[in-house]
Amino acid sequence: MEDHKKLLSTKLQSMSESATIMMAEKARELKSQGVDVISLSLGEPDFDTPDHIKNAAKNALDEGFTKYTPVPGHLALREAISEKFKRDNQLEYGPNQIVVSNGAKQSIANLCLALLDPGQEVIILTPYWVSYFDIVKFSGGTPVALSAGIDRDFKVKAEDLDEAINDKTKMILFSSPCNPTGSVYLKSELEAISEVIKKYPNVFVISDEIYEHINFTNEHCSIGSLEGMLERTITVNGFSKGYAMTGWRLGYIGAPLWIAQACAKVQGQFTSGATSFGQMAAVAALNSDQRPSHKMKEAYLRRRDFMVKNLSAIDGIDVNNPQGAFYIFADVSGSFGRSNGKNTIETANDFAEIMLTEAHVAMVSGTAFGNKDCVRLSYAAADNILKEAVERMAKTLSSYR
Ligand code: PMP
Ligand code: GLU
Repeated sequence: MEDHKKLLSTKLQSMSESATIMMAEKARELKSQGVDVISLSLGEPDFDTPDHIKNAAKNALDEGFTKYTPVPGHLALREAISEKFKRDNQLEYGPNQIVVSNGAKQSIANLCLALLDPGQEVIILTPYWVSYFDIVKFSGGTPVALSAGIDRDFKVKAEDLDEAINDKTKMILFSSPCNPTGSVYLKSELEAISEVIKKYPNVFVISDEIYEHINFTNEHCSIGSLEGMLERTITVNGFSKGYAMTGWRLGYIGAPLWIAQACAKVQGQFTSGATSFGQMAAVAALNSDQRPSHKMKEAYLRRRDFMVKNLSAIDGIDVNNPQGAFYIFADVSGSFGRSNGKNTIETANDFAEIMLTEAHVAMVSGTAFGNKDCVRLSYAAADNILKEAVERMAKTLSSYR
C-alpha cells in the first residue's frame, strides 16, 4: 500500500480526503457493525426530492431525453436558470453565460481549473466549506484562509479583506449562507466587501449560493447584483440543498461569458454535459411550485431553534445563532482540558472522536473547515433524532470534568 502511494501524482498525495465524506463513511461503517450511531456529519437534506420534480424526470425519460446534452446544459434549463437569476437575484446572466455541471462541486472545480495558475492566490473566507481548499490546491493555486471567529458571527470584515489582498490574489471564494457556520452575509456587509474588491481590477469573486433557499433572514443578497460587480462575479448555485436533490448531481454557474466558455471547455474534456433527464427535472424544480422548498426551510428553522437552545445549555459548548443553511458550528474549546479519567479532550478532533465513540453521535471537526475550536453538526435530521443526539452529547460531556 505504502509503495503504491508513491506511484500517485504528487498533487494527489498532497490532497486531503473530504472530511465530511470520510466522517459519514465512518458512521455508516459503525452502523453496519450494529452500533446505534446518529450521523450529523454529512450536509444532506433528510427530505426526499419533491414528487413533481421526480415526475418531470420520469416524463423526460419517456420523452427520450436519454442522449448527450450540450456541454453547458440543455438550452431549456439554461433559459430557466437565466430567468431564475433575474427573478430571484437581480443578476443578468444570459443562457450562454450559464454552465450546468455534475453538482456545484464540479462547478467550483471547473472554475479553479480554468482560472488559476501556479503562484496565484485565492482568499477563502474562513470557516470555509471543506472542499474549497483542496480544489484550489489541486488546480495549482494557493489557498489563503482569512478567518473570523464566533465573536464576529464567523463573518470576515471588509477591512480585513482589504489588508489580505495582494498582487498574487486572483479570487475571493466564500459561501453565504455559509457551510459550515450558517452565517449569512447581509447586503450592507457585501456592499462593503464589494467596495474593497472594486479597488483591485484583477480580482474575481466566486460566490457560492447553494444554500440560498435555506435563509432564515429571508433576505438573500447576491454579491454579483451589487453595482459594478457582475463582471467580476461568478455565482455558483445548485439543486442539492434547496430542492433536496443531492444524488441528482446538478449544479450551475452564472458567469461573465469568457469564464462560462472556459468552464465549458474544461467540462467538455472531463465529463461532458450533466445527466440529460435530470436536467429536465431541474427545469421543473425552478419553474414550478416552490412550496415544498419553503416547507423544508420551516422544518430547518424549527430544528435550528431546538439545537441552539439545547446545545448552548451544555457546559463547555458555545453556539451562535446561524441564520441559514442547516449546520451548527459549535465552539467546544470550553471543554478542552477536561478528562473522564481515561480520555482527555484536548482538541476539536478529540471532541468529535469522543462523541463518536462514546456518545455515538457523528459530527465533523472544525479543523476540516479551517477552525480549531469548533465542530460542525448538521441538523438536517428528524426532530426526535436531534433530541436524542443532544441528550447523548450532554450525558457524555458531563462525565468529563
Ligand atoms: N458548496 C457548498 C457550500 C456545499 O455545502 C456543497 C455541498 N453540497 C457544495 C458546494 C456542493 O454541492 P453539490 O456538488 O451537491 O451541488
Ligand atoms: N456539502 C455537504 C457537506 O458539507 C456534502 C458532503 C460534501 O460534498 O462534502 O457535508
